[in-house]
Amino acid sequence: MRMNPAILSSTLTLLAVTLPSVWGADVTVGTATAHAGERATGFIQVPGGVDAPTNIPVIVINGSKPGPRLALVAGSHGTEYASIIALEKLAQTVNPAALSGTVIIVPLINLASFSQKVPHLNPVDGKNMNRMYPGNPDGTQTERALWAIGRQVVQPSDYFIDLHGGDLDENLRRYSYWPQTGNKKLDATSRGMVMAFGLDHIVIQKYEGPAAPGATPVSRFANDLGKPTVIAEAGHAGTTDAEDVDALVQGSENVMRYLKMLPGEVRPVEHPVWIGEITTVRSDQDGIFYPLVVPESYVQQGMRIGYTTDYFGNRLADIKTPVSGVVVYVCSVPSMKKGDTAAYIGEIASAP
Ligand SMILES: [Zn+2]
Repeated sequence: MRMNPAILSSTLTLLAVTLPSVWGADVTVGTATAHAGERATGFIQVPGGVDAPTNIPVIVINGSKPGPRLALVAGSHGTEYASIIALEKLAQTVNPAALSGTVIIVPLINLASFSQKVPHLNPVDGKNMNRMYPGNPDGTQTERALWAIGRQVVQPSDYFIDLHGGDLDENLRRYSYWPQTGNKKLDATSRGMVMAFGLDHIVIQKYEGPAAPGATPVSRFANDLGKPTVIAEAGHAGTTDAEDVDALVQGSENVMRYLKMLPGEVRPVEHPVWIGEITTVRSDQDGIFYPLVVPESYVQQGMRIGYTTDYFGNRLADIKTPVSGVVVYVCSVPSMKKGDTAAYIGEIASAP
């Protein structure tokens, strides 16, 4: 596992400052301070800089018994609503009296995306709030926000969960990612967490090379700091169906049981479909997209997964999959530009 020495030393400094030396101490994140056995809400304050300030909501649930610190985040893509609603629910349902350890919940990182209904990016600076870790205290709003979340939420945690879902233009089946860092102990713990989470399609996410500056998601940032991590996706096209929201809430609670933070048995998923590679199928035309598959379809190499027309309805091109596998996501809207993603195809792997 590669570790940026500068990040490591700042992590250790921060850990020494913020972790309570004795169980029962208050836990503070942003403006939220929770006594042992209590819940508190507040904001991670991101001061103004080259652009506007923002306040990111945070919930601290400080258990009545000792245990690890689990951080959960959602809404870096602010229109992936099912994942945001799931953390809103979880924040209400985790009972501090029954909790061993501390749960930190950041349900909505990208407030401007949410409130303005802008998918994928932070409309304040046009940046992707899950690609810019470790952030920059002197950068634009996205970079300043991620710098704050990295230091105040990710670094002091022991375990990490990042929730996503199909965005406004994405029709997606539920799945999770199991990151492969090369650190056997870390990867084994993450595997236990992803099996406990319980989704029955799991993408084996391979890291190739060091994290790229300006292209680093929060999960990779957490992994590089040695935090076992699960990423889960549920929801599609702006919906908040109960089965998607519940899958994320129950999955998160099951990980807490796996980590002995909540009482109760965990029944891990027994025979998940393992996905070894995800292939992005793109359109080579501007135009109108018509899908021919739905999520969960199994497709054969060369099969049409959709087609495009021009703005008069004339057929332009078939879009074919270059690999066989399962459709994990297909574009849910007719808007299509050359180079845009039409679908993700997951290639089935044997159980690792
Ligand atoms: Zn997302």
